[in-house]
Amino acid sequence: MATQTESKPGQIYLDAFKKWGVPAQFMVAMEECCELGQAISKVHRSGFSKESIEHLAEEIADVRIVIDSLFTLIDGLEEQADKQQVSTLIKFGKRVYE
Ligand SMILES: [Mg+2]
Repeated sequence: MATQTESKPGQIYLDAFKKWGVPAQFMVAMEECCELGQAISKVHRSGFSKESIEHLAEEIADVRIVIDSLFTLIDGLEEQADKQQVSTLIKFGKRVYE
């Protein structure tokens, strides 16, 4: 059996869904998104301190991981999200430069 460090991320995510179930992993994803929101709020409140930036980086990493796990679980989700990101960025750019 491969250790965690030997496994590819996609396999780790699939094994996590198998071990704890999809509903539990969706709950983790929601929790991680909330934790990122709290970390952003802390930077807003306390400024760009070393501690707040480290916490922000940790929560960004957590959210990236749960998003990657959802991409692994749901076929086509990453491609849809990529398309949506381009579309949203175009609209955002129009608002920025109008
Ligand atoms: Mg977290």
